[in-house]
Parts: sequence; C-alpha cells; structure tokens
Amino acid sequence: MTSVSPSTADPITPGSTIGILGGGQLGRMLAMAAAQLGYCCHVYAPDGDTVAADVAADATCAPYDDTDALAAFAAACSVVTYEFENVPVAPLAALGETPLRAPVRALEIAQDRLAEKRFVEQLGGTPAPFMQVGDEAEFTAALEAIGTPGILKTRRDGYDGKGQWRIMSPRDAEDLTLSGKQLIYEGFVDFTAEFSVILVRGLDGEIRFWDSAQNDHSSGILARSSVPAGPAVAAQVSAARELSAKVAEALGYVGVLTLEFFATASGPVFNEMAPRVHNSGHWTIEGARTSQFENHIRAICGLPLGLTDTIVPAVRMDNLIGDRANDWLSLLGDPANHLHLYGKAEINPGRKMGHVTRLLTDGHG
Ligand code: AMP
Repeated sequence: MTSVSPSTADPITPGSTIGILGGGQLGRMLAMAAAQLGYCCHVYAPDGDTVAADVAADATCAPYDDTDALAAFAAACSVVTYEFENVPVAPLAALGETPLRAPVRALEIAQDRLAEKRFVEQLGGTPAPFMQVGDEAEFTAALEAIGTPGILKTRRDGYDGKGQWRIMSPRDAEDLTLSGKQLIYEGFVDFTAEFSVILVRGLDGEIRFWDSAQNDHSSGILARSSVPAGPAVAAQVSAARELSAKVAEALGYVGVLTLEFFATASGPVFNEMAPRVHNSGHWTIEGARTSQFENHIRAICGLPLGLTDTIVPAVRMDNLIGDRANDWLSLLGDPANHLHLYGKAEINPGRKMGHVTRLLTDGHG
C-alpha cells in the first residue's frame, strides 16, 4: 500500500473558524482547546442543543446529509474536522474546497468494522479472527470456522458495546434472529489487558505518540484509563505503535488517531480504530505536556505539534457514567481531583456524563 504525501499548505491563522462535525463531549473539549489558541468553532450537529455548541461561537442544527446546510457551514469555516465517526461520507462532498481533516478515507474505513479489519490486516496488523455475516448461512459458516466463544457485531454504528451479541456456545447462536443486518463475527480474544495507541500526525507528516493507557471496560464501556500501563501492555506498545504509524501514513492522516488493542500472549491484537480524539486520551489534558485536543487543533490547522510526554509518574482517568455524575460535589471535595462535566442535561444509564482525572506521584495513589 502506498503512503499519501502530506500537504504543506499554509497554516490556518488564529482568529479563523474551525468547523466541527458532531456535538458531543469530544467536540466540546476540542472547541475549548481551539479557543485557547485563538480560534472560533462552528459546531454542526443534527440536535439543536449540544454540549459542544454550548462552548462554540456558532452552531448549525441540520441533518448530516443536508448538503445545502453542509455547504453553507463549510463556507463559514477555514477547516472542518469531525468528532463523531458515523457522519455519512457521501454528503461530505458538499464541503467543497474547505479541507476536511482527518481525511474522509479514515472516516470511511473506521465506519465499517469489516473494512477496518481488512485494512489493518493488509498493513501487517493482527485482528481477532473475523468473518463477514450477511445471512444465516454465513453465520453458520463463521461459527464453524471460528467457533465459540465469539462476538457478533454490527458492521456499522456500534459504539460502547452497543450492537454486540456474545455467543458463548452454539446454543446462543440458535436464539438469534439476524434479520438482514450487516454483521461481523469475531473470535473471542483471550487478553491480559486492553490498551490504546493515540498519535497525532501533523500536516507535514510528523508523528508523535502519547503514552499508551491501559483501559478497563465495564459492560463494553470504557471505565478507567491508567498511565503507565502494566508490564503486559508495556511490552507490546512498540509493535502497536509501529502498526498505528503505518495506518496514519497509509491514510495521509492529519490529526489525532486512536487504535485500540488487546495485549495477548502472542502480541498485540488490533480491535478497532477511531479517526479522532479518544476517551482513553482524556488524561492528557492535565497529564501530558500537550493534550490530545490541543494537538488535534494544531495538526488540522497546520501548526507545529506540541510535546506529548507525560508530566507526572502516573495518571488515572475515571469516566463518570450515568448517575455517577451526581457525585460531583463529593468528587470536588478531594482537591486533587480534576473534574470534567460535559453539561448533559439528561442522565441515562450508560451515558458518559463527565470524567475525573488524578495525577499520581506513584502508580497507586
Ligand atoms: P468494541 O466496541 O469492539 O470496542 O468492544 C467493546 C469491548 O468489548 C472491548 O473493549 C472489549 O472489552 C470487548 N470485546 C470486543 N471485541 C472483543 C473480542 N473479539 N474478544 C474479547 N473481547 C472483546
């Protein structure tokens, strides 16, 4: 696979407007980092009242496939980025000459678990054994070839463990109705730990990595990210970084890119990629010299990248999911906590409402 040369366009000057597709907490934290560098943000999202728009100069409320609204939005922006990877790809042609960073190809690949695994495999990565499942016959074939336990996942639109069915034995498979969904069946990976590689690639092709966090999930949702990762992960970070850099280069990527891995006895197994800033990188706001949000803004604006090293011996980030956010006052009672609340009005179980970061002097604080 050939790598795409980065563009060396002039930097986008502070004072200009950055367009953000998506209105969630990632967009909110991007807009806050952009403000620090003197940029304004314009948020585009289908919902009128979004937590990103709350901190942005401007907002468009329109469906993602409204090409007139997209064209008007692009005309008001010097560069467009996305914080949500399920933005439909075809209507983005309406952005016209306004650059989209990260590139649309990254979005296209990351939206489809099958395309993503094939792409990474071609570059030398190892995903869990997987097979496409479009009907009952393909499901039977996948169960025969891969066996159980395994996980059936929707190819598109799944996140935080949604659109997934664990198949512990062939019996579980009998109870499922596929009803024409486009799916993928994956073998269950016997892993020691989960971790992510988060990198930023500048417009000039320079790549920097943050320390890899070890990630603990609960019910398929990220619960905690810890830096440094344990020894099982640490031994696999360099192989995982090498693959992640190949992915970034093959895509001519600009911005922050995340790849998630399982640390296994036979090396890092690729799980999925996110062409954006990532929940497992929220610790970088206080814990790294330059946060993932600031470096994403620097990259997409063609500015020099900031240092990514960790500034303390250890960092821990805990997500505040559902009604855990109600603990905000007691969390603030510990003056060492850095509390982030996303300003979401409605608390739902499983909804990410905020996070809390602690800088630690050792790995156990
Ligand atoms: P995903 O949405 O694919 O990231 O899945 C959410 C979580 O489910 C992952 O972070 C893992 O904890 C678990 N998981 C997903 N796929 C697998 C797999 N093939 N084997 C074992 N655990 C998995």
